[in-house]
Amino acid sequence: MIDLMHTSGGIGLAAQQIGRAIQVCVLDLLKTDREFTWEIDGAKPPLELIMPMVVVNPVLKAHPEFEEIVEEGCLSFPEIRGDVCRPERVTVNFQDAQGVPHLITCDGLFARCLQHEIDHLNGILFIDRMEKKVRAGLDKAVKELAKKTREASEPAA
Ligand SMILES: [Zn+2]
Repeated sequence: MIDLMHTSGGIGLAAQQIGRAIQVCVLDLLKTDREFTWEIDGAKPPLELIMPMVVVNPVLKAHPEFEEIVEEGCLSFPEIRGDVCRPERVTVNFQDAQGVPHLITCDGLFARCLQHEIDHLNGILFIDRMEKKVRAGLDKAVKELAKKTREASEPAA
């Protein structure tokens, strides 16, 4: 999953995006502007030590008192981007690839990426979180993409 995320040029990938119904997602924010803060198990390890990050069985607690609108994209929807409103800060309980439990609190892009990927694990897409107005503007592109995907998965005659 980490390799696929890297070769796709993404900063996150959820198991659901590769057809696996398991509670696992991966993140790599090393190549971003790093304008966010994080605390894991009460410490602030360098980003190099925690990325790429494997997140298993995440349980998310958002801090909804501060929300922000940021444009998002998704590896499952190439060419589609749109504004999504989300809490700016989250706390997540999860296990790492070795099954060790952790508690992370983060904000900014880190929090946004985690929420986007955890949404995938729960069958929620970023287009579902867009305001109706924004979503309506993308409707044509979404429909075309759905059609293309269907055609691609149909056996060639
Ligand atoms: Zn996505």
